[in-house]
Amino acid sequence: MLRSSLLFASRSPAARTLVETTPLTKPVVDRFVAGSAVDDAIRITRELVDSGRYVTLDHLGEDTVQTTDADATVEAYLRLLGLLQETGLSERAEVSVKLSAVGQSLPKNGHRIALENAHKICSAAGVVGTTVTLDMEDHTTTDSTLDILAELRLDFPWVGAVLQAYLKRTEGDCRDLATAGSRVRLCKGAYKEPESVAYQDKHEVDLSYVRCLKALMNGSGYPMVASHDPRLIEIAGDLAASAGRRPGEFEYQMLYGIRPTEQLRLSGEGHRMRVYVPYGDEWYGYFMRRLAERPANIAFFLRSLLTRG
Ligand SMILES: Cc1cc2nc3c(=O)[nH]c(=O)nc-3n(C[C@H](O)[C@H](O)[C@H](O)COP(=O)(O)OP(=O)(O)OC[C@H]3O[C@@H](n4cnc5c(N)ncnc54)[C@H](O)[C@@H]3O)c2cc1C
Repeated sequence: MLRSSLLFASRSPAARTLVETTPLTKPVVDRFVAGSAVDDAIRITRELVDSGRYVTLDHLGEDTVQTTDADATVEAYLRLLGLLQETGLSERAEVSVKLSAVGQSLPKNGHRIALENAHKICSAAGVVGTTVTLDMEDHTTTDSTLDILAELRLDFPWVGAVLQAYLKRTEGDCRDLATAGSRVRLCKGAYKEPESVAYQDKHEVDLSYVRCLKALMNGSGYPMVASHDPRLIEIAGDLAASAGRRPGEFEYQMLYGIRPTEQLRLSGEGHRMRVYVPYGDEWYGYFMRRLAERPANIAFFLRSLLTRG
């Protein structure tokens, strides 16, 4: 119920104004977001890389309905990629892109514009020697995102995508994408989805995650295990071992600010551990999804409002 309300609020302009204009929100946002400026993103990336971790950077923004905003997002990624190269970080840091931020949700020709814009970002990533992973948004975008992935992979075979275990279709998508060179980031899924397309029960989502992971680990692609769930992390290790995968032949991924000690434990054991680092001003939707994932975050948020208010 609380999760649904928060996910509903994540797309409500009125709730957005309320949360964004409360100055006390900022310290809580800072736990999950690297900062507003690209320099903040580079600074945090440097810290994570120096501690042995890998990074994927997300320039925050989604559901763009103006072409100029989509163009600005592309520019932001090109600048970020240039800086990753200049600072020598591009070997360990890639970028994650939400297609709705680069045109997919435009009222006219959204699919084509998103493809063209994502192509520009991939070209720049290729030049600096890093990779791009396409984030996955709500289920109405899944087909379009997978079609764009297929188009991009013709020119850039290293482009990766996210699949969400809560969607009933995903086990099949995992089988389709578990092919040589294919990078798949498997997560549980963070949007409010109807029962017709998505498992609603947490346990069913976890069971689906394991089935999906089995398909990825037993296939010939590169699985990226995006979860903070201790049980799933353990199962991922077992599945990787029984599929004969060594560290480096799959990776773990977590969000910036969540379970940092566990991140260090996994990288300390020789695993590739990548941290998803969001930065920029458009933090609202991302932040609300993080609150919705864990009731304790709401308590943390409310407590900081009360103790500072
Ligand atoms: C690298 C990465 C990329 C992602 N990309 C996408 C995407 O493109 N599309 C999409 O729909 N979703 C994405 N997600 C989010 C994902 O779908 C889940 O909503 C999120 O990861 C929580 O699920 P979980 O597997 O960690 O398990 P959960 O069962 O939600 O959490 C397990 C444990 O992890 C910790 N934890 C989890 N979330 C939080 C939190 N917000 N704050 C504090 N502790 C927490 C808690 O200890 C919790 O008990 C991504 C996640 C990661 C790690």
